[in-house]
Amino acid sequence: SKSARWDSKDESKHLPIYQHKHNLIQAVKNSTFLVVTGETGSGKTTQLPQYLHEAGFCKKGNIGITQPRRVAAITVAQRVAQEMQCTLGREVGYQVRFDDCTSQDTVVKYMTDGCLLREILADPGLSQYSVVILDEVHERSLNTDILLGLLKKLFSSPAKASKGRSRPLKVVVMSATLETDKLSAFLGNCPVFTIPGRTFPVTCMFGTAVGPKDTESTGYVKEVVKMALDVHSSEMAGDILVFLTGQSEIERACDLLFEKAEAIDYRYDVQDQTVEGLLILPLYGSMPTDQQRQIFQPPPPGIRKCVVATNIAATSLTINGIKYIIDSGFVKQLNHNSRVGMDILEVVPISKSEAQQRAGRAGRTSAGKCFRIYTKEFWEKCMPEYTVPEIQRTSLTAVVLTLKCLGIHDVIRFPYLDSPEERFILEALKQLFQFDAIDRRGRVTQLGELMVEFPLHPGLTRAVLKAASLSCQDMLLPVAAMLSVENIFIRPGHPDKQKEADKIHRALAAKSGGMNDFATLLTVFQLCKSSDRPSEWCRQNWIHWRALKSAFSVETQLREILLRLQQKRDFPVETFDGNKGELFRQCLCTGYFTNVARRSVGKVFCTMDGHGSMVQIHPSSSLFDQEAELNWVIFHDVLVTSRVYIRTVCPIRYDWVKDLLPKLHEVDVYELSSVARE
Ligand code: ADP
Ligand code: MG
Repeated sequence: SKSARWDSKDESKHLPIYQHKHNLIQAVKNSTFLVVTGETGSGKTTQLPQYLHEAGFCKKGNIGITQPRRVAAITVAQRVAQEMQCTLGREVGYQVRFDDCTSQDTVVKYMTDGCLLREILADPGLSQYSVVILDEVHERSLNTDILLGLLKKLFSSPAKASKGRSRPLKVVVMSATLETDKLSAFLGNCPVFTIPGRTFPVTCMFGTAVGPKDTESTGYVKEVVKMALDVHSSEMAGDILVFLTGQSEIERACDLLFEKAEAIDYRYDVQDQTVEGLLILPLYGSMPTDQQRQIFQPPPPGIRKCVVATNIAATSLTINGIKYIIDSGFVKQLNHNSRVGMDILEVVPISKSEAQQRAGRAGRTSAGKCFRIYTKEFWEKCMPEYTVPEIQRTSLTAVVLTLKCLGIHDVIRFPYLDSPEERFILEALKQLFQFDAIDRRGRVTQLGELMVEFPLHPGLTRAVLKAASLSCQDMLLPVAAMLSVENIFIRPGHPDKQKEADKIHRALAAKSGGMNDFATLLTVFQLCKSSDRPSEWCRQNWIHWRALKSAFSVETQLREILLRLQQKRDFPVETFDGNKGELFRQCLCTGYFTNVARRSVGKVFCTMDGHGSMVQIHPSSSLFDQEAELNWVIFHDVLVTSRVYIRTVCPIRYDWVKDLLPKLHEVDVYELSSVARE
């Protein structure tokens, strides 16, 4: 409504950043690089782009703002569109992987850092922008770090930086109050603009539930729930923010809260303030956006809001009214696992600086409290001082290919804010060589140039391109889409319902011909797509309709990218002389030969990538319990618990990978890297 719009516009005048509007605009005008820092919630993300818009920066180019997280890009764009009183997707829009909400009219564009990286591939001078704002730089996401280096490099050759533009590009780097000296030094000692803001004291208390021996347990979900109920029944009015690690944990915690909260008599008085009920709201990445909007609204009178969130609520999104923090002490993180030689999502203890950031969320508008469920000993022994930047702990394969396609051959001496270990760069070069994306001398191949266009893992891209060259992309595109969305199979917590769901999922696997999890994904995609009432079909088959809807959209987009590439003259065309029934699995092998395992004894398989890890098939696979019939398999990913499980599995014949496997061992990384050092 009109009045709601007025409110949000009015509200923004009370933000700490508002008084510095004029000086900020001047600071951006006066230098190429500017570092802007200020407490979370001071208004950097939502206000600065609007100020620059008002100051006329959109007359000769757009304002682009990057976010490491897709939810943040979407949510913030919605807010800013509301404040600027325009429809989302018109003047203000957003773009994240597989979801583009922009138009010809868009001048203020929020996007993920990955999207801007793709735009640089097509337009290295970013000529459509007058200002680029890298936001949340303190998060040190891989893509943001690479963007920092690329922008620094762009200005090291003034001719390139000013090519095709009437006014020079401005770069603003925004960060919470951390590492700003380092950032300024990296960007040629550029000015730092600090938005002063006051914060209120937060009292932090350690708990007893998680100690140094509990780094791998998941018992903390119950503990945070207990703590939240304690706070609710004994503390004064004020909202609660709970930090957990991911969707399934958050849903479980919310279920428990709903269950337990009913048993509590809310009618108590604490120092004259009555808090009668608890409003429980989950907040995680793949949540529908209409549900997310509720998070920001104040609760009805007499009701206490309890938001159960991932790390997204630590700095990317600010929720007003939070007075109590409940910190699990854990976060989900993508790490390179040297035991299996792959990137794996792991739940790990947060760093001390992260814990302080979380606690700070309770002291934005008044004094607050932070309840940590872990002990002081856990803090001292298990939590590192700072979070290791993503660039130093994950696979660099995709970004190294991007850099190479940008003509940056010396990927070792690229200006990194913090350099990754050389062996990670070598590993990336090796993988790219294995996928035929670069040649022996480290130069990008024709195939590499096609691969960089796909927003998918290089292996999956390789399989899709192979299929396309054999004209059977209709089998691989749906699979690639299904593997790019959140989990599609519903796993009800209730044992009876779980049995029913398992039975139906097994039937779907059988329909696909059985014994191939990739084929099951294809079958689910096709059956649902051809159904008259797809949402009803999903409900009956225990499939997440929302995930499938995304998969349909992703498949269409991948198909469009492929069509565009196929119109290029040199798109490869091959003929297949094998058994047609094996075409699908042979295409998969081209991309997954790095993930081959051979059964050694009983249920145990051994990977063939040189690591020789001992793995087992995950119980969610239709091949589980069929191990005796298997010899060679490929798999999509691994799950590391006390064991190492492989997931989304398919049996293959040794013949199909025989010629590919030697590539895993015969690469001379020094030859690849000597070019890198040239
Ligand atoms: P910063 O980037 O400095 O951390 P933001 O610009 O994100 O600060 O936030 C400024 C204010 O805008 C905060 O009070 C926050 O609660 C509010 N805000 C941001 N997004 C929304 C939203 N979608 N709905 C309501 N309020 C929002
Ligand atoms: Mg921000």
